Amino acid sequence: MISIIIPFYNERESLPKLYDRLIAELTKLKESYEIILVDDGSTDNLKPVVKKNTILVTHRKRLGKGKALASGFTESKGNIIIFMDADLQDDPSDLKKFIAKINEGYDLVNGWRQDRKDSLTKTIPSNILNNILLKLFFGSKFHDINCGFKAMRREVLEEISLYGDNFRFLPAIVEKEGFNTTEIVVNHHPRRFGVSKYGYTKGLLGFLDVLTTFFLLEYFDRPIHFFGIVGAFIFAIGFVILLILGIQRIFFGMLLYRRPILFVGIVLVIIGVQIIMSGFIGELLVYLHKKKK
Ligand code: UDP
Ligand code: MG
Repeated sequence: MISIIIPFYNERESLPKLYDRLIAELTKLKESYEIILVDDGSTDNLKPVVKKNTILVTHRKRLGKGKALASGFTESKGNIIIFMDADLQDDPSDLKKFIAKINEGYDLVNGWRQDRKDSLTKTIPSNILNNILLKLFFGSKFHDINCGFKAMRREVLEEISLYGDNFRFLPAIVEKEGFNTTEIVVNHHPRRFGVSKYGYTKGLLGFLDVLTTFFLLEYFDRPIHFFGIVGAFIFAIGFVILLILGIQRIFFGMLLYRRPILFVGIVLVIIGVQIIMSGFIGELLVYLHKKKK
């Protein structure tokens, strides 16, 4: 069975249209399905009229798209899970392509809005994210990680739980965990009704999210590897500065007043040691946490 999870926040014009088109498309596909509409605390008084095979989940207040997807997944029963936006920007006619790819054996299939119909304030940060940051930190191959349209096997979400905003990097995380992933080009339409729920501040937050996700994924179990390397690097720079100054003072009789670099050296050594120590505290936390379990 296919579970289609659609989070929505104030999409009163788009959602009913999408719902009808979706049902028409799914009827053509002749697969068993359920549609899970997740109302993320909408305030526009839309009460979707649901037909059979549909579950409506409601958040009492807006909790964000990530939580909405997680609530939808909790209610779902399908072995193929599909995420789709409610704003009619994603095209239900692409569903069959997603399902075909999953049936080919992929665990996750991400959409790629090659011809994206959004404003530059959205596409530019998104390009930086996809083509620079994610490549750098994750070695990600995805062109459009943040595309809301994606399909995956149930096992993927059972293993990698949705929390916070990690849905944004789900494909990269899933890939890093060794699942078989791919992407397909999808149709993309301009938003015709309502307004986008995300501004461009998302760009900066997106950067912080990349860092956190990368850190948690890579160093969660062994913080000293991260803090140790960073701390040792800073310590080493300070140490070399002090070493050179020391040699100059002892062997060449050069005096150390009016040498501001002396303070740079001292500060770097202290910071380096502090960072390494944070790594040990991190290790201690991991150790105690594991022992308790
Ligand atoms: N959405 C949501 N809760 C939020 C923000 C967005 O459920 O807090 C839904 C929104 O209704 C839409 C999808 O997530 O169905 C994608 O949002 P939007 O189209 O505004 O994002 P964009 O495509 O502009 O990045
Ligand atoms: Mg949209």
